[in-house]
Amino acid sequence: MDVPTTNVELVPEKETIKEGKEGCPAFHCDLCDTEIVYKITRVFLPGLAAACVDNTTGGLFRSPASVAVDMRKEMIDYLTQRSESFVAETIILEGGTNTEVSDHPYDIISDFVDDFASSKRNFFSRVSGWLLSEKREDNIDDFIQEMEENRFWLTDRREVIAQTLLKNVDLKNTFHCDKKFHTTEELAEHVVNCGFRSLNCKNEGCTVVVCASKLETHDSACPFKIIPCEQKCSDSIMRREMDRHCITICPMKLVNCPFYSVGCQSTIARCRIQQHCSEDFHLHLVFALQNIHKGATEEDLKERVDQIVKSAPGQLEASRDVRSLTIKVRDIDAKLGPLECTPRKDSEDSIETANDIMDKSTEAINKALEESSNKVGTESIEAAIEESSEPGNSVTEKSTNTTNKVGGESPKSAMGGSPEAGDSVTEKWNKATN
Ligand SMILES: [Zn+2]
Ligand SMILES: [Zn+2]
Ligand SMILES: [Zn+2]
Ligand SMILES: [Zn+2]
Repeated sequence: MDVPTTNVELVPEKETIKEGKEGCPAFHCDLCDTEIVYKITRVFLPGLAAACVDNTTGGLFRSPASVAVDMRKEMIDYLTQRSESFVAETIILEGGTNTEVSDHPYDIISDFVDDFASSKRNFFSRVSGWLLSEKREDNIDDFIQEMEENRFWLTDRREVIAQTLLKNVDLKNTFHCDKKFHTTEELAEHVVNCGFRSLNCKNEGCTVVVCASKLETHDSACPFKIIPCEQKCSDSIMRREMDRHCITICPMKLVNCPFYSVGCQSTIARCRIQQHCSEDFHLHLVFALQNIHKGATEEDLKERVDQIVKSAPGQLEASRDVRSLTIKVRDIDAKLGPLECTPRKDSEDSIETANDIMDKSTEAINKALEESSNKVGTESIEAAIEESSEPGNSVTEKSTNTTNKVGGESPKSAMGGSPEAGDSVTEKWNKATN
């Protein structure tokens, strides 16, 4: 007959517990950071193997396997006990001088495992360099493999231990959830939103499982995530394929202009070569002509370009490489007869185009030096002469600088083609002919 009374008494008592002991509700969220749990799980077998090997080395009748079962039990007890008394340990450490100790749960638990394994070394394992020997390493590796093959201490069992240890030493709740609830309903509601709940990465091909709060971080580096091309072509590529895409098939890969070898130094996205070749068509023609009429001035070439374009409308624009353009230009150019070069003033005798200077630079520079009434620093002349045997820009610039000081007039008009490219050529040209 006590039942109703008990019930009546129980209900308010429960209420009292809820409201009175707000700080310790009964239902705990048990979720942990799966990544760290897995990491901890992986230190157990090597630790146990080391303990078993070092405990039985030198013994004739005991193998690591013969002590493994007992050793595992001891190890679990030891780790549990150490982790439970970890708070006290921390306080002692903080009071002491050793402040270098990591407070990361993985490091803490790894240290426990190491301490346990060290405590199991027998007399033989303590002497004669055994601990540093390769044989010991091999024995430990072999025994780890043996345990795995015999499914001796399976991952899910180790995970349970790892979670318990983690909760004991993760005092800052960085890697496990410490939320508590008054009812199972509240708990259930929390668990589906808990930051520590495990989620599979959704990117196709990725098998990573992370806790919800870290999914975004993982996603931002996941090798399987499909992301837009880094070179901004229209493709989207798996992150791990990006580098290869960018240096191989990406249409936005930067390449040299097809007329690079004759002087166009533009770098263009592969897909824009056609556009560049159309836009800078006149410029490329000038470069091709330069090869045919070495020594002609910009003015001469400019006129010739106009003549060539007029005499063969639409025939040259399609050329996408130096060879085909040069062949066509050579043909048309030959039909136009010899190139009429602008007569030069005496003072300009020494002024040659960059090409000419490059071809017979020493002679030209010496000649220029002789004829010039201006004083030119011998150093720069010597340098120019020295380097003049090498092809390349530096030679052109140096020779140019030298001849600049000799005097002469510069052709002012820019060449045809795009204003930008035309300007840069004119600049070079002016430099070279000045
Ligand atoms: Zn939680
Ligand atoms: Zn992923
Ligand atoms: Zn691309
Ligand atoms: Zn070009």
